[in-house]
Formats: sequence, structure tokens, C-alpha cells
Amino acid sequence: MLSINNLTFSYDKKPVLDGLTFEVPAGDFCAVIGPNGSGKSTLLKAVSGLLPEAAVRTAVSVDGQPLADYTPLELARKVAYVPQRVDIVFDFTVFDTVMMGRHPHQSRWETGTPHDREVVTEMLDKTGVLALKDRMLSQLSGGEVQRVMIARAMAQQTPILLLDEPLSNLDVTHKFEVMRLLRTLNRDQNVTVLIVVHDFAFAKQFATTTLLLKSGKRLAYGPTDEVIILPMIRDAFGLGDDYRLDERGNVYCDNL
Ligand code: ADP
Ligand code: MG
Repeated sequence: MLSINNLTFSYDKKPVLDGLTFEVPAGDFCAVIGPNGSGKSTLLKAVSGLLPEAAVRTAVSVDGQPLADYTPLELARKVAYVPQRVDIVFDFTVFDTVMMGRHPHQSRWETGTPHDREVVTEMLDKTGVLALKDRMLSQLSGGEVQRVMIARAMAQQTPILLLDEPLSNLDVTHKFEVMRLLRTLNRDQNVTVLIVVHDFAFAKQFATTTLLLKSGKRLAYGPTDEVIILPMIRDAFGLGDDYRLDERGNVYCDNL
């Protein structure tokens, strides 16, 4: 279980997360939606332990224990994170990149047991990038890098998976493949999924629960069909009366 209790965070005194409180039960599939700059990425960074502030590390708990009580390695066995953007500072092969996901399960002197290699190969295959395994990351398209990062997080085999806009660079086929993959992990292995998506239709199709953020605050949290409704979306995104939302989650504007 993931529990966020009055999480507040600022960059340079500018509040980005503002008294955020919610709980994601184990095995939930939760979408995080909200306008640009509403704090979605910051929230995922907070949960993945990337924000070192003591207030963050006490406000976020995983399985009833605040992040402050975890070592980085212990947390990496619980939570895997797919960032919104990847800066390729050091170039690695696709295979070695996904192998990094095995690190939390390896002892100090290990560098990839046969089992680790098996897991890595399985995740490369599931995300459709196995044929690219010997290529350097810098030689991939944006969508390919994104799938490699998803494979790396899956290779970590954690009970909680955080994904920050993992669909943004993908074509429609790969969008559905990734969402199906996440749903399978969620259903078959009870993996808790917290995913930032911009497409309400994807949230409606796959997420049981949705968190709607506005200016770092929780505007709504609950069953997806009760959160992704026109008044909420209008409020969060500042849309006028000429915008409509159909039952599948597609937005239309009457005045184009
Ligand atoms: P979202 O993912 O919802 O678009 P973010 O969590 O990335 O929003 O950002 C929330 C706010 O925090 C934005 O106003 C953004 O400009 C600001 N911000 C994000 N990262 C930093 C940073 N490293 N330093 C200063 N401000 C930041
Ligand atoms: Mg973001």
C-alpha cells in the first residue's frame, strides 16, 4: 500500500505539492491526471524517493513505513519508476540499461546471474524491444527509449510501479500494448500501478481509480468514472462551456 499524508513540497519557495493526502491500496491501478505544472511528476518523484527533503520522506509511506525508514536499496525493491524524460548522459546498450533494473536484487559482487539475464530478456520481449538489445540508447527513437525504460522498471520486479507519461512518445499500437502489459502485471501479479496520463480515454479504459491534481492540490480522488466527469475536467483545466466530454473520455470543443 502507498500512503501520502499531507505532502507539501516547494521548489524555491514556490509550492508545487500542497497538503496532498491520498491512499492507493495494494493492487490498485491508479491514473494521475492534471494540467501541465500541476505537480504530477513531482508527486511521482516524491514517491520514488528522489526528493531528499525530510518532510517528503515522512509524508510518503510504503507498506506502512515512511520512506525515511527505507534504505535506497530496500525502497528499490518496493518501488520502480519510469521517468517522464530520460537524459542520456552515459550511453549504454539496451540490454545493459534493462539489467540496471536488476541491481536491487543483486549482491555486491554479482553482475547479472543467468536468472537476471532471463528476466531482462523476458521484459525486453514483453515491451517489444528485444531486437534492439545490442543497440546504444542514443541510437533509439523516443518511443523505443520509452519502452526500454518500461522494461527496466519491470525488470526490477517491484510490487509498486510508477510511470510518468509512459505513452507520450508511443504510436497507437504501442500505447495499447504498454497499457495491456501494465494491466496484466496488475491483474496477474497484483502490481500496484500509478501512472500519469494525459489521455482521459486511456485512464477510463484501464484505471480503476483516478487522482486529479490542480495546482499541487487534490481536486478529486476516487473511482475513475466519478473523477473524469465534465465539471471536474472543466474546473481542473479551466475549460469553457464550449468544451464537452463523452462517456469514453474524449474531449470536444464546439468552437474551433
Ligand atoms: P507536471 O508533471 O504536472 O507537469 P511538475 O511536477 O513537473 O508538473 O512541475 C510542477 C511545478 O514545479 C511546475 O511549475 C514546474 O515548473 C516546477 N518545477 C518542476 N521541477 C522543477 C525544478 N527542478 N526546479 C524548479 N521548479 C521546478
Ligand atoms: Mg510531468
